[in-house]
Amino acid sequence: MRLLLLALAFAAVALAGCTTTSPPRNPLAEWHASPNHGPRRARVIVLHHTAMDSAEGALRVLQTGNAGGPVSSHYLIGDDGRRYQLVSEQARAWHAGDSSWAGISDLNSTSIGIELDNNGHEPFSEAQIQSLLVLLADIVERNGIQPHLVVGHGDIAPTKKDDPSAWFPWQRLAEAGFGSWPTGGVGLPPPGFDPWAALRLVGYDLADPGAALAAFHRHYRGRDDRTWLPGDDVILHDLQVQLMALPASAPRTDMAQGSIGTPPPDAGERLNSPVR
Ligand SMILES: [Zn+2]
Repeated sequence: MRLLLLALAFAAVALAGCTTTSPPRNPLAEWHASPNHGPRRARVIVLHHTAMDSAEGALRVLQTGNAGGPVSSHYLIGDDGRRYQLVSEQARAWHAGDSSWAGISDLNSTSIGIELDNNGHEPFSEAQIQSLLVLLADIVERNGIQPHLVVGHGDIAPTKKDDPSAWFPWQRLAEAGFGSWPTGGVGLPPPGFDPWAALRLVGYDLADPGAALAAFHRHYRGRDDRTWLPGDDVILHDLQVQLMALPASAPRTDMAQGSIGTPPPDAGERLNSPVR
């Protein structure tokens, strides 16, 4: 009898589990389940700084919202290296807003967002960067993300955002295998080299060329100039050579088709601007 009761209890739990975990099914169609599927996966990882003074304050905003409405990210890393997760990787967090990278638009739908507790005017702590590298290795591996597709919010929304700031150590990230950085070993660009085409190939949306250049300089040169600088062509040629050497399966062919359109309306630079 006791065994029977136990079995019934297990069955009840299992049924309850089925009820709560079954995916929504459209009543307009007959359900004929196929086992051949998996979770949708992100293709890009977007890094941010919170532009706030504490992880606690950022957690509150990311769990509620701000003057612009609800905002969130998948992860937040404190300046002490502590990691917080706010949204499942399978869900669409609201961290990127209007955005474009390598011909991919609406990055909220195809990316994982990581906020870094940093006010935007200070170096990123060693503990935080080490913690980020551990998390990136984990996310990239589990989701099969191309490691070079780790970018900044400012890269994907150059007219509206400037995070993470020029303090962010992109070179160190690249040395650990994430994002991109010039190797310094491919020589001078060939005659006729087109730096704008290379900038678009790298991934930048050129709807506002000055904003795209500022984002490129912030990422690769630690400054925000909106016009070309000596040596930019060498960096872009280097990045282009690396991208063209990627396996054919890597999402690089669509990089040359970055959309050119009307820049989105200007918005704030901080976590407290709408990003849905
Ligand atoms: Zn951001």
